[in-house]
Amino acid sequence: MTDAPAYGFDTLQVHAGTPPDPATGAIQTPVYQSTAYQFRDAAHAARLFNLEEIGYIYSRLTNPTVSALAARITALEGGAGGICCSSGHAAQIMALFPLMAPGRNVVASSRLYGGTVTQFSQTIRRFGWEAKFVDFDDPGAIAAAIDGDTRAIFCETIANPAGHVTDLDAVAAVAADAGLPLIVDNTSATPWLCRPFDHGATLVVHSMTKYLTGNGTVTGGAVIDSGRFDWAASDLFPSLSAPEPAYHGLTFAGLGPMAFTFHSIAVGLRDLGMTLNPQAAHYTLCGIETLSLRMARHVSNARAVAQWLEADPRISRVSYQGLASFAGQERVSRICPRGPGALFTVGVKGGYEACVALVDRLTLFAHVANLGDTRSLIIHPASTTHRQLSEAQQVAAGAAPDMVRMSIGIEDPADLIADLDRALAAA
Ligand SMILES: *Cc1c(COP(=O)(O)O)cnc(C)c1O
Repeated sequence: MTDAPAYGFDTLQVHAGTPPDPATGAIQTPVYQSTAYQFRDAAHAARLFNLEEIGYIYSRLTNPTVSALAARITALEGGAGGICCSSGHAAQIMALFPLMAPGRNVVASSRLYGGTVTQFSQTIRRFGWEAKFVDFDDPGAIAAAIDGDTRAIFCETIANPAGHVTDLDAVAAVAADAGLPLIVDNTSATPWLCRPFDHGATLVVHSMTKYLTGNGTVTGGAVIDSGRFDWAASDLFPSLSAPEPAYHGLTFAGLGPMAFTFHSIAVGLRDLGMTLNPQAAHYTLCGIETLSLRMARHVSNARAVAQWLEADPRISRVSYQGLASFAGQERVSRICPRGPGALFTVGVKGGYEACVALVDRLTLFAHVANLGDTRSLIIHPASTTHRQLSEAQQVAAGAAPDMVRMSIGIEDPADLIADLDRALAAA
């Protein structure tokens, strides 16, 4: 990343990481559709493979278009370094991989994206990793769940599915007391609404599939490192603090603030192979150019729709924490001063049947299992993503039968409200 003046967010989202192409002067970052990069000579190749010189070898590790994207997100998050990978779920594995080992665990918030709950409660067990889910509104519960095998703390800034804002300062204090890194999934907030490093996070992960790309075209993920965690302060993180046999005994922690990023490229991407392709990186770079403009509109639309729903007699509750009636204003204004995103849940008085009729009768809202699109999206979890669960499990997961989740897009708010009004009348 270049160092130049301390530009504001709107400038960085257009320029960071992407100076004009040195070969052609192209101002839009070219899609470097190349698998491999020619070495200048044998000595150059040897230095690259020894990590003594930084350069491109093979696109499973690094690619110029993908690196430009990583540099831009790193700048927006205020991190020291970062990598991009093939999806948000890949980013979560890439973030945990250098920290975990068989028998180790991550203490995770019980409020998470549904796919993350499955990844953490089922799939990571095959690596011998475990997740312990606790209520992150209770710092004492987080501290109590930490044991000698815990290697990371994990939460979302604006948590699924209800749009609950996490008190990152309080969670980071618990992590710091335990000498553990805090990983924050900043997908639903984006760095425009919250920069988790300003609240003590160690690593930020993103599903770029959502707001960063913004238009529902490609999947992608990112892991950004604050560069502030001292991996060598304990013997908990040997992948970073002990000599790496694959690099002639190099110790990644010796690379200082770039330790985690270099490990992610030289070991994580090299051996796990969850690489982002340069075409997808191009779409995401284009999307990020308008991130702040879109997020401002997402938030103001979400406020307008949530206010209208809250006042409607057919609605029993609205979870949006940007409503004036919400009691936890202090936390929202501290963590997300520009507003708590555009994701919330809505209770419909007619229960399961009314929810199904509502999603079927909406014409503008798309009925899909996604969030963070320019389009407004709705899903009824009890009949889709959470239909395998019992009613008691659905309620516990925040997916009660009478509840729909909305992700508000950037359309005309009056049109969204009119669509909801018509569909509720018919339901
Ligand atoms: C979508 C999402 C993910 C997973 O990202 P993919 O790109 O679909 O793999 C993780 N966390 C959150 C908060 C998400 O919204």
